[in-house]
Amino acid sequence: MSIKIQPEAITSLRGYEVPERLGFGTVMAPVMFRARYQDGRWSDGELVPYGPLALDPAAKVLHYAQTCFEGMKAYRCGSEIGLFRPERNAERMVHSARRLCMPPVPEDLFMDAVRTVVSHCATLIPVGTGESLYIRPFLIGTQPDLSVTASKAYEFYVIASPSEAYHAGNMRLWVEREDSRAAVGGTGDAKVGGNYAASLLSIARLKERGYDQSLWLNPGNRRTVDELSGMNFFAVMDGALHTPALNGSILEGVTRDSMLTLARDLGIEVHEREIDIDDLLALVASGTCSEAFACGTAAIVSPISELGDSENRYRLASAPGPVAAQLRAALLDIQEGRVEDRFGWMQMVQMASL
Ligand SMILES: *Cc1c(COP(=O)(O)O)cnc(C)c1O
Repeated sequence: MSIKIQPEAITSLRGYEVPERLGFGTVMAPVMFRARYQDGRWSDGELVPYGPLALDPAAKVLHYAQTCFEGMKAYRCGSEIGLFRPERNAERMVHSARRLCMPPVPEDLFMDAVRTVVSHCATLIPVGTGESLYIRPFLIGTQPDLSVTASKAYEFYVIASPSEAYHAGNMRLWVEREDSRAAVGGTGDAKVGGNYAASLLSIARLKERGYDQSLWLNPGNRRTVDELSGMNFFAVMDGALHTPALNGSILEGVTRDSMLTLARDLGIEVHEREIDIDDLLALVASGTCSEAFACGTAAIVSPISELGDSENRYRLASAPGPVAAQLRAALLDIQEGRVEDRFGWMQMVQMASL
C-alpha cells in the first residue's frame, strides 16, 4: 500500500495555526485521508487538504445510511505520539462494515491511514493531560442509485480534531423504558450512525426533564441494562465492578475492555452479567450500589450521579467514586506514557517532517 501525500496537504499543514480554544471535536485538522473502493478493489490512499466532499444527491449513504465509523485518540507521549489499541478499532470497523453489507476496510489500510494522518498532524496535538488528537475514520456508500441494494462504490476517510478533554461532568441518566436505540438482530453491536440517530429523540426528551443521557435497556427483554448512547455502563456493588455482558445489542467498547483488564489487574472483583434495571435501582436506593460510571474513548470515564425512572430519582452515594477515579488514572497513566505499558496497548508513531 503506497500513500500519496498531496503537496497541497503539506501546504495547508504549514500554514495552519491551532486555535487557542479547542473544545471537543469542533476544530478540524487541515488534512484528511481518502481512499476509494470501486470495481471490487481499494485505490491507493492519499492525504489531501481537509474540505467538503462532492457527493451525488442520490448517493446511497444519504438515503439508506450505508455508513459506519470509528472513534479513537492519539496522545502525546514525550517526543512520540501514541495510539491506544488502534488494532481494536480496525477490527471493529471490519465488523461494522460487514453488518451493513459494505466491503470492510482492510486492517492494514486502516492502520496506514490513521498513522499517516497522525504523523502529519503531530504538531497539532495539544499537550495537556486528557488532551489529544481525536481521530474519526468513516466509510460511506457513494453509488448514485436509489434502488435498495448495497452500494458498489465506497469512500473511506480519516479526519482528525485536536481536542480538549471531554468533560461530561457528573451525569444524570434517565432510564429509557419506551424507545430502543437498536433492535434484537439489528445493529446495536456495530458502530453505525443510524444507532445514534435513533437515540436523539430520547435525549431531547430527557434534557427537558433535566437529565443528561439515556440509559438504554435491552431491546429484547426491556428489563436489563445495555448501555448509554455512546458509552458503556459500569456499577460498583460492595466494592466489586459489574457491567452488562455483551449480548449482541451492546457496542463492545475498547475502553470497556480496558477497564475490565485494569480492574482485574488492580485486584478488583469483576462481573460481566445481566443487570436487571429494577434490581439495580433497588441496590442504589439501599446504598449497596455506591457508584456508577460510563466509559468511552471521548470522555474516558464519566461518573453517574443520579438515575431517574418515571417519578423516582435514585442518587448514587459517591460521584465521582473511588473506583472510577482509580481506573481513570490507571488508564491515563498508560495512554500518556507515565507508566510502563504492561499490556502492550500503545503503538508509537513518528512525526512526519513537513
Ligand atoms: C463508541 C461507542 C462506545 C464506546 O466505545 P469505545 O471503543 O470505548 O470508545 C460505547 N457505546 C456505543 C454505542 C458506542 O458507539
